[in-house]
Amino acid sequence: PVDRLPEIQEARLKLPVLAEEQVIMEAVKENDCVVLCGETGSGKTTQVPQFLYEAGYASAGGVIGVTEPRRVAAVSMSHRVATEMNLSTGVVSYQIRYEGNVTKDTKIKFMTDGVLLKEIQKDFLLQKYSVIIIDEAHERSVYTDILIGLLSRIVALRNKKGLPMKLLIMSATLRVEDFTENKRLFRTPPPVIKVEARQFPVTVHFNKRTPMEDYVAEAFRKTCKIHRMLPPGGILVFLTGQAEVHSVCRRLRKAFPYRPNNIQHPETDDTSEGLRKFKKQKQKKSVSLPRIDLDNYSALPVDEGDEDRQAGIDDDDDEGSDLDLGDQPEDTEEKADPSIPLYVLPLYSLLAPEQQAKVFRPPPPGARLCVVATNVAETSLTIPGIKYVVDCGRVKKRFYDQVTGVSSFKVTWTSQASANQRAGRAGRTEAGHCYRLYSSAVFSDFSQFSEAEITRRPVDDLVLQMKDLNIEKVVNFPFPTPPSSEALVSAEQLLISLGALEEPPRQGRMVDMERARLSCPITPLGRAMAAFPVAPRYAKMLALGRQQGCMPYIITIVAAMTVREIFEELDRPASSEEESSKLAGRKARFSQMRRLWAGQGQSLLLGDLMVMLGAVGACEFAGCTPKFCEENGLRYKAMLEIRRLRGQLTNAVNAVCSDAGVCVDNKMPPPTESQVVCLRQIVLAGLGDHLARRVQAEELLDPKWRNGYKTPLLDEPVFIHPSSALHKELPEFVVYQEIMETTKMYMRGVCAAQAD
Ligand code: ADP
Ligand code: MG
Repeated sequence: PVDRLPEIQEARLKLPVLAEEQVIMEAVKENDCVVLCGETGSGKTTQVPQFLYEAGYASAGGVIGVTEPRRVAAVSMSHRVATEMNLSTGVVSYQIRYEGNVTKDTKIKFMTDGVLLKEIQKDFLLQKYSVIIIDEAHERSVYTDILIGLLSRIVALRNKKGLPMKLLIMSATLRVEDFTENKRLFRTPPPVIKVEARQFPVTVHFNKRTPMEDYVAEAFRKTCKIHRMLPPGGILVFLTGQAEVHSVCRRLRKAFPYRPNNIQHPETDDTSEGLRKFKKQKQKKSVSLPRIDLDNYSALPVDEGDEDRQAGIDDDDDEGSDLDLGDQPEDTEEKADPSIPLYVLPLYSLLAPEQQAKVFRPPPPGARLCVVATNVAETSLTIPGIKYVVDCGRVKKRFYDQVTGVSSFKVTWTSQASANQRAGRAGRTEAGHCYRLYSSAVFSDFSQFSEAEITRRPVDDLVLQMKDLNIEKVVNFPFPTPPSSEALVSAEQLLISLGALEEPPRQGRMVDMERARLSCPITPLGRAMAAFPVAPRYAKMLALGRQQGCMPYIITIVAAMTVREIFEELDRPASSEEESSKLAGRKARFSQMRRLWAGQGQSLLLGDLMVMLGAVGACEFAGCTPKFCEENGLRYKAMLEIRRLRGQLTNAVNAVCSDAGVCVDNKMPPPTESQVVCLRQIVLAGLGDHLARRVQAEELLDPKWRNGYKTPLLDEPVFIHPSSALHKELPEFVVYQEIMETTKMYMRGVCAAQAD
């Protein structure tokens, strides 16, 4: 029996999923696999594990496992469920890549999907679990897809062995055909239970015009208007990335300063002048608004253009039609108005957890909450009290070219499904409004759904993991959505070239060779590589790292390359002259530090990898403090992640070769000259297919190739970035970690490759 606090029990009863407890538990009892759909916020993640617990799924020693695509969700949901159930975190626990609080008493375990995949490698039958819940399946993350494919088999095997296990797939959208209609996945389609969410109507307001470039400014303006004119209620703004989030936060804080000691507390201090003014303003501005903009522009009649189209959620609600705010740009910058304070919080996945947790707490009295977020706020976290959503309609995604391997981050339109999810965030506690910063014509051109991640990224790591699970014919795997065959072929080729898979036979009929190429068995080296939770190229480096005592250095370099973005970016625009000179000073200091870490001679040839090694070494030597990171241009959170990953990789190396005897040394001395030479050889073995050759003067036909490098697969030149340690050296041959396309195609993580 679970002993919940009365207020928790009361809050639970309001969740739509509670009404379906019986239906869900019946279905789980009768079926091996059940699909549960319900709007974000309906209580799936927090309640379903509790249903299973109360129905006894954890009483016979089995664990209820819940997978989340995001680490943030795994951690915060485990805490929430522990609180709701009045149980310790030793019973309701979490495990993410680097950390966890699982004990032998753990009954409900939240984890990232990657963690469960690793566990399948250790015990294919997952015998310690009685149920697995795959949460947020609609996100279609790569690991989610693979897990569903594997679990469809594992559940069947467990039943055959008389150790039944249940599988529950939970989705925030109704688009589950890829799971239910896929006969290779489930021969009999699993039942689908729909939770009717108590969603309040959300009125969707489209812009008449669609700003193409300045949607960030438009988001800022719209938020200001909402705050100045509309009744109380939290505002949630969707933007595409961290830089945008910070820029809008900064501008909003400036426009509506919130100073903790200036805030009046309505309950305790009802007489002060400031509060009266505040209340008066609120009243004046929050009563039913005229249809015309208060800002005295936009004369378009409302029934023209795109205004007032209702979308999605609830089509016959009309109550908010006079809350349109227009979308004409405003020339004037907002004047600071401290009388209506706005409590502005950023939310994105790289933000520190303490900062993220702030959005769950009520805003200070007298201030309106405004969360400026990336799409992390779309489904996994439910922020209380949101009444207004401002949606820029875009999303930043990493694009990856399957043929050339070039990555780029691009801001593109989101899908209709995502836009409707975003709008839905406004109707959790009462009727709400969603302001879309684009026209309904643009919306109707959005794709209906976002495509599964597995079709958009390299799959070499997955193929290696699957081969290690003895799934030789990866092409035959029951993927909910299979990756492209080019992606599978290039993954297999890379793994063969790294020595992780056996060479296919070179003779025979063409078709047979094709087929053989896609079913190469794993080698012992491949098994060792699969034990390291990093990309295969880096795993290869770890597998070679034992020469000349290089292992601790290789572990550090691999950890830094895996965590990425370890340096603070200073490319943001300064808001004042003073800030601009401060920024310039910091930039100068940071590049000085990077030159120092790059070293001389042999070290310099190791290039950006030496800089990473030097940065981590120096940071750890100084005790890895926020102060050190701040002063030297390092991202503190990245440094903490590198520290954890170093620990984890060190353990993995010791486990794979019991006599390796490596340990994590905070006072790691710099590598010797001969170690650096050796490090470079190891790096070349891992990045061998990422080779680029400098264009020679006599080949310079076109000026665009000046200082450019030629790679085997690209017709265009690639370059060494000005921030690289090798920017001035321009070695004849280099290997690189990746190619990123920004203003040009730039190699990142460059290391010299020519013979000495
Ligand atoms: P779903 O998984 O269906 O999206 P959840 O189970 O995550 O729904 O959320 C159910 C409710 O629990 C939401 O109303 C949400 O606001 C609330 N909730 C979730 N986490 C917390 C938290 N850390 N603190 C307070 N309330 C929370
Ligand atoms: Mg959820």
